[in-house]
Amino acid sequence: MDFKGKRVLVVGLGKSGVSAALYLRKLGARVTVSDSRPGEALAKEIPALLDAGVMVESGGHGVLTFRRQDLIVLSPGVPLSTPEVQQSQRFGVPIIGEVELASLALQGKIIAITGSNGKTTTTSLVGHILLHANYETKIGGNIGLPVVEMVEGSTEKTWSVLEVSSFQLETIETFRPHIAAVLNITPDHLDRHGSFENYAAAKARITENQTPEDFLVLNAEDKPTQMVAAKTKAQIFWFSGVRRVKQGAFAHNDGIYFITKEGGTPEPIMPLAEIPLRGAHNVENVLAAIAMAKLAGIATDEIREAVASFTAVDHRLQFVAKKRGVEYYNDSKATNVDATIKALESFPSGIRIILGGKDKASDYTQLLPLLKERTVAVYTIGMAADIIAKQIGDQVKLTPAGTLSEAVRLASESAQPGETVLLAPACASFDQFTSYEHRGRVFVELVQNLPE
Ligand code: ADP
Repeated sequence: MDFKGKRVLVVGLGKSGVSAALYLRKLGARVTVSDSRPGEALAKEIPALLDAGVMVESGGHGVLTFRRQDLIVLSPGVPLSTPEVQQSQRFGVPIIGEVELASLALQGKIIAITGSNGKTTTTSLVGHILLHANYETKIGGNIGLPVVEMVEGSTEKTWSVLEVSSFQLETIETFRPHIAAVLNITPDHLDRHGSFENYAAAKARITENQTPEDFLVLNAEDKPTQMVAAKTKAQIFWFSGVRRVKQGAFAHNDGIYFITKEGGTPEPIMPLAEIPLRGAHNVENVLAAIAMAKLAGIATDEIREAVASFTAVDHRLQFVAKKRGVEYYNDSKATNVDATIKALESFPSGIRIILGGKDKASDYTQLLPLLKERTVAVYTIGMAADIIAKQIGDQVKLTPAGTLSEAVRLASESAQPGETVLLAPACASFDQFTSYEHRGRVFVELVQNLPE
């Protein structure tokens, strides 16, 4: 696609929006960016954009800005339902996202991973395996590098391993991964997608341009992904932590196996004991990653070595420290109920959990069986504390702590040796922190400052 002289509007100045605007300028487009945040909030981004000759509109979207554009590039943080965007769509202006924009020029093969939970862990692991096998590898998307920044230097031999969110998939058109994976589909972001069906449909779009030469890796234990199976033209490979699959990766007894072809003999890949991550959900992530690595043609020995040398990504059930016999785990990335369930399932008993933050219209009653069975105390923090209390306060004893530092103080004072203090809040962080990373870093610091 030739962008020279084209008028392009980039809506939303997150990391990928800024990169998309600069990328389009390099291609000779006449670029405007529009963000609803005031100029002061964008002070870091604006100078580089102006230097590159990008026109900047902040503090709202002007109706005229959205007129007379040849293309709109929508950031994942901006809903498609935004009135100005809707209006442009009615006028017939094509609307795409940064992933689509980049994929028009990205050379080589794409591995794309989506799901409600486990994307970052699995994407990092697949990237780690490919790098270990000396594949020419780039890792990015929803984590780290925006995809437009992966275009330069990509060749026929490049493997781009991309984490893609449901929001990014809402704005693709021709994006076609050679290997795609849907890890799981559980309720999340319903505040923006409107319904579970819409959310699941957005995730399923990962396969809409795949052909029979491509591969789709799906979770055999997750019902909503079966809907994705019905929609694909790609070859389906399954993964399961609990039973043998027809074709794909599975765990059986103490090992992981892979079946290349329906009716084929399972090939042993590695013992489960060599997986360095905690929890059954991480076994699922490893299985998905192994399936993708096999489909990318990587030798079994290389896969085994690479998986065994992988370490947990920060803020994902990350071990922080052992203080006075009590272990502290940072799962600040557990921003929805399902991730918190997986975190609770990773420890048999003696958990002191910290819950709360910014509510996302979640159903906390789903936590009740595990809270009753495995926790010795539940501390609540942030804006969601009252909502959590209303939903489950009559069934489990909650200790309102207000802030994270107070929760850590209370938990550390009462914890007995052998217990676990777990930050797995089931909520977003934005009421008290700038991000889940910020929340996780504060937790790690609080724990490190506790007496030995
Ligand atoms: P994502 O990028 O999809 O948010 P992460 O790898 O960052 O996924 O993990 C997000 C949260 O979900 C963490 O709390 C992590 O412990 C938990 N988690 C990781 N993998 C899974 C999985 N397969 N199923 C459910 N929860 C998971």
